[in-house]
Amino acid sequence: MDQLPEGVYPADVVPQSSGNRVKLGSFSTHRTPETENHQIGSSTFQDALPIITSPSHWSIEEISQHRLGKDNGRNVAEAIRQGSCRAICDGSFKNKHGTAGFCIHGSDPRYQVEGCNRTPGRPQEQSPYRAELGGVVGTLTVIEAICTHHNITEGAVQVGLDCETAIKKIMAKLPPKVKDKDYDMIMECRHRIHALPTGISITMRWIEGHQDNKGRRLDWWARQNIRIDQKAKRYWHKHRLNPRPPQLLGKEQWALTVEGQKMAHFDKEEIYELIKTDKIKAYWKKKDDIREELWDNINRKASKKALKEQPRGMCRWSGKHATRHAPVGRMMKLRQEWTHSRCCRCGAAEETTVHVVSCPCADAQTTWDLALDKLEEWMKSQDTEPDLARHILGHLRSWRLGQEHHTPRHPNRSLTMAIALQNNIGWYNFILGRISTNFTDIQERHYRSKDCKRTGF
Ligand SMILES: [Zn+2]
Repeated sequence: MDQLPEGVYPADVVPQSSGNRVKLGSFSTHRTPETENHQIGSSTFQDALPIITSPSHWSIEEISQHRLGKDNGRNVAEAIRQGSCRAICDGSFKNKHGTAGFCIHGSDPRYQVEGCNRTPGRPQEQSPYRAELGGVVGTLTVIEAICTHHNITEGAVQVGLDCETAIKKIMAKLPPKVKDKDYDMIMECRHRIHALPTGISITMRWIEGHQDNKGRRLDWWARQNIRIDQKAKRYWHKHRLNPRPPQLLGKEQWALTVEGQKMAHFDKEEIYELIKTDKIKAYWKKKDDIREELWDNINRKASKKALKEQPRGMCRWSGKHATRHAPVGRMMKLRQEWTHSRCCRCGAAEETTVHVVSCPCADAQTTWDLALDKLEEWMKSQDTEPDLARHILGHLRSWRLGQEHHTPRHPNRSLTMAIALQNNIGWYNFILGRISTNFTDIQERHYRSKDCKRTGF
C-alpha cells in the first residue's frame, strides 16, 4: 500500500539478536515523524537535510557543493522553480556492496549539489539495481531539503538514470508487491516523491549507460552519467571494507526482520525455512529416520526444483505419498473405508506406501522395470557419469528385492563415498527425492572433464 490508513503509524524495527527469529514490526507511536528529523529553522539547505540519527541520513551521508556555503542551493532552487532542474544518479556494485553517486544541477554547473551514499541492506540483497535505487533516494532527499529551505512549492525536476527497470518500478501506477526484490527501496523512492510539495513534479529519464565505451558523441546526460558513475565507484573504493548494514528506511511504514536484520522484501521461502525447518526435521526424523547429520547432505534444492516442474496433481500426490497419507490399504483401514489393509495386488497383509513401490506382484514389477528403463534413458540423455548411473540403478534394483547391494571399492573414491552416503540416507529416500549432494559434485566433475558448461545441479 502507498499510504497507511488513518490512525495507523509506521512500524518500529528494533534489532533483536535473540528471541523471535522473524519479527513483523507493529505500528507504534514511538517513532519520530520524518519531518522532525532535520533541524528546525535551517540557516543553510544542509541544515534541512535529515540529521545523523534519522533513518534517512544514510542517503545523504556525503553532500558537497563546489562553492559550499556561498550559494546555499539557491541556483538549484531557482531551477526547480523554473522547471529546468536536472539531476543524475548512478550506482556502483561489487562484492555484495553497493554505493551511489548523484548530482543536482541548476543553470550554473559550479553550484550543483553532489552526494554519495552506501546502500543499506543484507549482503545477499545488494545488487546494482538496489544501489541505483539508493541513488534515487539520495537525490530526492536533497531535493526535499532544498524545497523546504527555499520554501519552494511549485516546480519540476528531471532525474536521469541508466536503469530502466528502476524507473518503471518507481513511476508505476501501482506500488510494487511486497515479494518484489528491493520492495523497501522502491517504496522509499515512491514515498519520497509523494512527500514533496504537490506542486513539484518529478519526471524520470532513461540514459543509456556506458556510452563512453561505444565511441559515440555524448550529450550532457551521458557525460554526467559517466562522471557520476565514476563518483559512485570512488565512493565504493573508499568504503570497500565498510558496507552499510540493513536498516529501517526513513519513510518505511512496516518492516520484517530476520534474526534482527531487516529484510528488503518479503521472502516467503526464507521465512518459511527459518520458522519451519526444526519442525520439518523432527517430522522426517520420526517418519523416515533422516537424522540431523544427514540433513545437509540431501540436495533439497534439486528435489524442490524437480517437483516444481511436475504437474500440479503430481505435486499433490507426491506430498501424500511421502507422508504416507496416500490412500493405500493401511490408510483406508484407518479411515474405516476398508475393512482390511491388504494389498489388492499381491494380498500382502498390510499395504503401505513403501509396499506400493516394492510389491512383488508381476504388474508392479513391470511398472517398476519400465520406470527404471525410463530413468536409465533419462540419465543417458543428461550424460550422467556412467559409473554413477550404473550404481544408482543397481542400488535401486537391490532395494526393491530387499537385498543388500554390494558396493565394490571403486577406484573413484568420491563415487564410493557418495554411494556410502546415499546408503545412509537410504534408497527409498532416494526414490522420494532425497538425493545425496555428493552426486552433484561427481556429475559436475564429469561435465568439466568433457568441457561441458552444464552444472551437476
Ligand atoms: Zn502387494
